[in-house]
Amino acid sequence: MIDPTTVFATSDVVVGLVVAIPVIVVAAGVAVGLRLRGGGPKSHVPPGEVASDAPTDIELDRSAEATRRAESTTEAEPEPAPEPVAEPATYRSRLGKARGLLSGYLGAVRARGKVDATTWDDLEEALIRADVGVGATDALLDDLRTRVKGGEINGPDALVDALKADLVDMLSAADARLAMPGGGSPDATDGRAASAGTAGTAGTDETDGTAGTDGAQGDSQPVDVWLFVGVNGVGKTTTVGKVANRMSASGTRVLLAAGDTFRAAAGEQLAMWASRADADIVRGSEGGDPSSVVFDAVQRAASKGHAVVLADTAGRLHNKVNLIEELKKIRRIADRPPGHVVEVLLVLDATTGQNGLTQAKVFLEAVDVSGVVLTKLDGTAKGGIVVAIQRELGLPVKLVGLGEGVDDLIDFDPAAFVDALF
Ligand code: GDP
Repeated sequence: MIDPTTVFATSDVVVGLVVAIPVIVVAAGVAVGLRLRGGGPKSHVPPGEVASDAPTDIELDRSAEATRRAESTTEAEPEPAPEPVAEPATYRSRLGKARGLLSGYLGAVRARGKVDATTWDDLEEALIRADVGVGATDALLDDLRTRVKGGEINGPDALVDALKADLVDMLSAADARLAMPGGGSPDATDGRAASAGTAGTAGTDETDGTAGTDGAQGDSQPVDVWLFVGVNGVGKTTTVGKVANRMSASGTRVLLAAGDTFRAAAGEQLAMWASRADADIVRGSEGGDPSSVVFDAVQRAASKGHAVVLADTAGRLHNKVNLIEELKKIRRIADRPPGHVVEVLLVLDATTGQNGLTQAKVFLEAVDVSGVVLTKLDGTAKGGIVVAIQRELGLPVKLVGLGEGVDDLIDFDPAAFVDALF
């Protein structure tokens, strides 16, 4: 017979198991779930061991994924654009307009396959439109005609090549060296600009208001003076700044003289160039006597050890007589010891073409000019004006402006110039 207490106890055990098993299963499931999510407690650390913070495999996977994402985001970000590097001024890079004009005509000449009347018409039109000038164009074409007739030049290609060579010869005739401080050119010491000046009148000008110092400077180091003359707006101040920058960069101590006292803006502009070129500057009061500014600049240069004074001047053409007298006086004062004028540079704007030649003649009446700076060649098709200047004014083009930037001034190089045009 079955003991009822035993039956009761057995059924209790069964009921207990029925309740306990699911509870255990659920608890184990929750524990695994928590572990998998990483939210549960770290594994039990047996006594004597240090709890590790080492990530679980899942954590490692996650962090690798995050790193990959971050890297891919970084890769996707655009690289910062490189600083634009200013292209150095070269004839070829800056004479696009002039080359564009000539290449059309010269291409047509070459394409014709023979030299005929149209060839000569094309060449003449090309040279005149490029502002080579009637005189130089006639001289060049007459010579070429003779050589074609004589059989020395055969065919259009040879004709264009001969024209190119003739232009280089014509442009190489004048001495384009600059009297660089420190004797960079043999002319620096030969008093070339002393001969370029008007009468040697040091000490004889009683009216300039700056007398009384002659002789006092006898023992001073001579100071080279470069004068920049030309009509307003041609680029004098800019050229002074570019030359100053070039000299400073080569270790020469430069002092600028703001001799254009008629425009306050000219002084401001020159002061800006002075700081850019790391050069000193002497400025006068607005409307003051430009000769005094140049005088002061020479004195200051001598006492402070500057090798060269670069003097800007005003170029108002409306009162020609005053302009001429003023330039003569500046020239005279600048040449008093310790000052020594070694360059008088006439600045001409290439875009004005043949008009520039007419303007130039006014300045030639005032001061003997040692050379020409031809500015703004970058903006004109009239590059041929270089030929006209050398031929008609008998002056060498020494420097060429190919832009508004500080480095956009280069020595005139006939071969590179002609090469860039053809
Ligand atoms: P200034 O009155 O003779 O002193 O002439 P500035 O030096 O004030 O120049 C007149 C303008 O010509 C300025 O805007 C200059 O930046 C510009 N200029 C000067 N030289 C050049 C050059 O070689 N090329 C170009 N494109 N502009 C130039």
